[in-house]
Amino acid sequence: MKQLRVLVTGGAGFLGSHLCDRLLDTGAEVLCLDNFFTGSKANIRHAAYGSAMEKFEVIRHDLVEPIFLEVDQIYNLACPASPVHYQHNPVKTVKTNVMGTINMLGLAKRVKARILQASTSEVYGNPEQHPQKETYWGHVNPVGLRSCYDEGKRVAETLMMDYHRQNQIDVRIVRIFNTYGPRMAVSDGRVVSNFIVQAMRNDPITIYGDGSQTRSFCYVSDMVDGLMKMMNCNHITGPVNLGNPEEYSIERIAELILESTHSKSQIVYRPLPQDDPVRRCPDITIAQKELRWKPVVSLRQGLEKTIEYFRQVL
Ligand code: NAD
Ligand code: UDP
Repeated sequence: MKQLRVLVTGGAGFLGSHLCDRLLDTGAEVLCLDNFFTGSKANIRHAAYGSAMEKFEVIRHDLVEPIFLEVDQIYNLACPASPVHYQHNPVKTVKTNVMGTINMLGLAKRVKARILQASTSEVYGNPEQHPQKETYWGHVNPVGLRSCYDEGKRVAETLMMDYHRQNQIDVRIVRIFNTYGPRMAVSDGRVVSNFIVQAMRNDPITIYGDGSQTRSFCYVSDMVDGLMKMMNCNHITGPVNLGNPEEYSIERIAELILESTHSKSQIVYRPLPQDDPVRRCPDITIAQKELRWKPVVSLRQGLEKTIEYFRQVL
């Protein structure tokens, strides 16, 4: 049988590195492409020097520039995901989402690869429908601080569908909701890693706003399962929501992390960032029905594993 060759853009990042591991486990040959903006070599060192090293290749490349490779599948994950990082150079964030996605779609067209786009729950903006279904068109501020990411990802979805209709590219779109786990960078800036790092250092836990805003948190192994099921399913293009439908307030997340780390940290309240969505929770009916997928790791279990990871790196 022909060896499957899979490209993972953003492969040295948090989600991408876990995906590379799981792809190597299936026996696939994996090309990990990254510009190391938020990703790190530490995330992929075990793959580069481990038992599957002959099947693993690292390519330092910026997705904004075209690249020619021979591959069968493309997981397009390259893009900083934390608000702190995607707002650091917002023009670059737009370029990565637009030019990067065009480059990957061009590659998919040339080599007839199937391509999966990592979209986001941010395409729903500050949602007026709850929980969010794929049919909801969203409520996004086109000119705010989060727009470079939200609108960038919306254009990426548009490009996927237009290449699909115009050039018959075999596309898959997933809308990923907040995902956490080991290998989030200490400086990532997203809520779970921030709170764990703060708690373990007995530093103040920074809640933005009053902490009543909600998110739904999916453990990384569940997310990787969902990504691979979507890539390998033959009957839908998406978009499909992937996330854990259990919804928590940010204040509750702070309490759970304080409990699990036995921390002495105090909670402090900081201003809510502009356009911070008030609530967010996926409707995963389509993923359940079409992919036979739903998350299996509870928030408590996932937090334990993540805390254990940060204990090792801090
Ligand atoms: P991350 O920041 O850890 O990983 C992103 C990776 O992309 C990094 O390794 C970074 O160096 C790389 N990258 C960024 N710009 C690049 C460019 N121009 N060229 C090449 N590489 C580039 O974030 P993550 O949480 O692993 O997110 C991965 C993908 O999943 C992103 O596309 C993100 O938008 C999407 N997503 C993640 C979540 C989540 O909660 N983790 C939620 C929704 C969507
Ligand atoms: N948040 C917080 N303190 C932090 C980091 C984030 O209270 O140190 C809040 C943030 O304002 C948002 C929620 O946690 O309401 C999730 O933020 P994150 O950056 O993880 O993801 P996103 O807003 O993109 O869902």
